[in-house]
Amino acid sequence: MQVFGLVGNPVGHSLSPPMHEAAYDALGIDARYVTFEPAVDDIGRAIGGADALGVTGLNVTIPFKQRVLDLVDPDPLAARIGAVNTVDFTGERPRGYNTDAAGVTRSFAHHDVPLDGRDAVVVGAGGAGRAVAFALADSGCDVHIANRTAEKAAELADAVGGASAGGLDTLDRVRDADVLVNATSVGMESDESPVPREVLHPALAVLDAVYSPVETRLLREAAEAGATTIDGAWMLLFQGVEAFERWTGEDAPVDAMNGALRARLS
Ligand code: NAP
Repeated sequence: MQVFGLVGNPVGHSLSPPMHEAAYDALGIDARYVTFEPAVDDIGRAIGGADALGVTGLNVTIPFKQRVLDLVDPDPLAARIGAVNTVDFTGERPRGYNTDAAGVTRSFAHHDVPLDGRDAVVVGAGGAGRAVAFALADSGCDVHIANRTAEKAAELADAVGGASAGGLDTLDRVRDADVLVNATSVGMESDESPVPREVLHPALAVLDAVYSPVETRLLREAAEAGATTIDGAWMLLFQGVEAFERWTGEDAPVDAMNGALRARLS
């Protein structure tokens, strides 16, 4: 039996176990997906221990995504983003990936939204914002990053290269954009949107990384403005799909994984 899992602290309410186990069931793979919650200072021992015990793959979440980068061989994209959310232990050394980026691009592809040559605005410059900004830039978007702390947006734009940046007062740029991604946590705890509704328009495709609630205020107002809306569960799904495919080398059963995820979110 293969063992996969998620390492984070806390990991109590993770939706990854049912999502991945639905994939094993659908494809008849003898595997389990379990959660691990090491103490914050024990992540080095946890990664080494998982490797020694023959764990096949781990997802990594808060607060370990940055620290795991130094404990594995990161692929070039994970190194540029500065965070690892997926570790593959099947090679000689643990290999680190960032599948949040694929979570973004595959969500847009699934909704037939082209990215190459499009103007994109990313709100947020934290962990998710970094993955989103690199993913969109690598897909050929002209990226603008707007963040509450404008300096963090500027640092990220520098790291991405060729992107522009500013504070939340630059969100007026959404009026002329094709693509908008919310990568802040606004909308999670309360019914608020990080983007003024008057800048939303019908030619826009909006992805909200927030997946709880699934229908955020931003997505509601974007739909009212006639925009294409993509909820954060799609990004969560496709980062998991990408991780599954990295670990197994097989096409993921996307519908089965999506069904398991949506059943837990409704
Ligand atoms: P993080 O590293 O803590 O970054 C938080 C971001 O939100 C920062 O840009 C922060 O701005 C901004 N922010 C927080 N409160 C704000 C407020 N009141 N007004 C304006 N901006 C505010 O968190 P993260 O890991 O990037 O996660 C962000 C969100 O993405 C979370 O809701 C998380 O669940 C979601 N996420 C979803 C997926 C998925 O697969 N769907 C994957 C990863 C993350 P400052 O820099 O100014 O503090």
